[in-house]
Amino acid sequence: MRALLKFDEEQTSQPITAQVILEQALPINILRADVKPAGGEILVEIPQDRFDEVVKAFQKRGVTVIVEKRLAIDGDKCIHCGACYSLCPVSVIRFEEDYTVTFDEDKCVACGLCIDACPTHALELL
Ligand code: SF4
Ligand code: SF4
Repeated sequence: MRALLKFDEEQTSQPITAQVILEQALPINILRADVKPAGGEILVEIPQDRFDEVVKAFQKRGVTVIVEKRLAIDGDKCIHCGACYSLCPVSVIRFEEDYTVTFDEDKCVACGLCIDACPTHALELL
């Protein structure tokens, strides 16, 4: 599961992420980081079975944690109609040469624009 960690100016001067990784004895996958002396954000992927504990460990240190939703595609329901294709602002959705529609879920920013456009309800944000 993904979470966006928001650090204020004081927190960026402390090794909070390293402390939580050591305390929890858990490798946390950092997907994106934008940290400056005045504050910053880190997008992390945390294993689902340890998610609550890890979130609490960051919150205990004053970090604001926003749970990020992920795009889920039901391949059995997708009919490759392309109704979702032009709506995506970050080019997650592609038309392949064989006219099938594919998704690069890692680029998804969970805006939700494609969800209601799908006639077969193949898309969800979980
Ligand atoms: S939720 Fe938004 S960013 Fe993600 S695939 Fe759909 S349109 Fe693109
Ligand atoms: S709108 Fe739905 S059915 Fe059509 S290509 Fe997108 S996910 Fe597949």
